[in-house]
Amino acid sequence: HAKAMGRNNFQFYTACMNQAAVRHMQLESGLKQALANNELYLVYQPKYEVKSGKLIGMEALLRWHSDKLGPVSPVEFIPLAEETGMINTIGGWVLQQVCQQLAQWRQQGLQPVPVAINLSAKQLNNHIVDEVQQALTTCELTASLLELELTESAVMQHPAESIAILARLEALGLTLAVDDFGTGYSSLAYLKRFPIHTLKIDKEFVRDISDDPEDAAITSAIIALAHSLDLLVVAEGVETQEQLHFLASQGCDQVQGYLLGKPMSVADCSGLLQAKAEP
Ligand code: C2E
Ligand code: MG
Ligand code: MG
Ligand code: MG
Repeated sequence: HAKAMGRNNFQFYTACMNQAAVRHMQLESGLKQALANNELYLVYQPKYEVKSGKLIGMEALLRWHSDKLGPVSPVEFIPLAEETGMINTIGGWVLQQVCQQLAQWRQQGLQPVPVAINLSAKQLNNHIVDEVQQALTTCELTASLLELELTESAVMQHPAESIAILARLEALGLTLAVDDFGTGYSSLAYLKRFPIHTLKIDKEFVRDISDDPEDAAITSAIIALAHSLDLLVVAEGVETQEQLHFLASQGCDQVQGYLLGKPMSVADCSGLLQAKAEP
């Protein structure tokens, strides 16, 4: 009987596992070719100052449109890129791409706003400092045009090493933000020691701000915490006027979300920068 059950379970699991394994393999081999095939590109999501309503930054978000698999979400392919080590090549490409874009906007006579790049835990090694320095030099950019976003869990994997690398990046003049704040497990003691400038409240909290008193309380607490540590606070995932009003009433500094602007193409961003320049 055990044998029969075992066999049934085995068949059940293999069917599911095959599907997942096949997808995994397709994604992995696809991702290896993605850069060479020009299947990766960046979109940019605007970030606004709450008080003035001004455009004050953008976040670069990676997109993969695979010839074979169609569009694949970064939620699916970034973890894979991390697992396989491809994130270093891909992350390097993102960095260069963003720097070239900033240089191009400047060359077009537009005044670019700082652009934030998402960094994986795997990229948080000493090599990144040289890579950033190199990219800035090549494109003749000031470091204040670049921001880096790291999740709590990325930084907390090796807190001491992370602090050392972040300090070197900060010394270059970059702005550093903790992304998805509130979902990880970083102790407040560490938060104080990180050379960071900004906390980004995770969109999970923002989503139910208007209906869930606990999410509203957590959001208010993060804003107060950030300010008491002299950090700026950004809310991500702002989709409604109610959410924006609440965040403004709590003193949130900056906002990002579909209400204000979706991740958009370079051409649309150029339009935003153009509009910003016109009084
Ligand atoms: P993230 O850095 O927290 O980015 C915010 C995510 O929320 C983005 O998803 C964005 O498109 C989405 N979003 C923005 N506004 C709204 C809104 O109002 N409502 C909702 N529901 N969502 C909103 P996306 O682009 O799918 O990226 C997912 C995650 O993938 C990012 O989360 C980031 O962790 C990672 N990622 C994206 N690009 C890169 C990259 O170049 N390098 C690395 N290492 N990770 C990246
Ligand atoms: Mg981010
Ligand atoms: Mg986030
Ligand atoms: Mg996120």
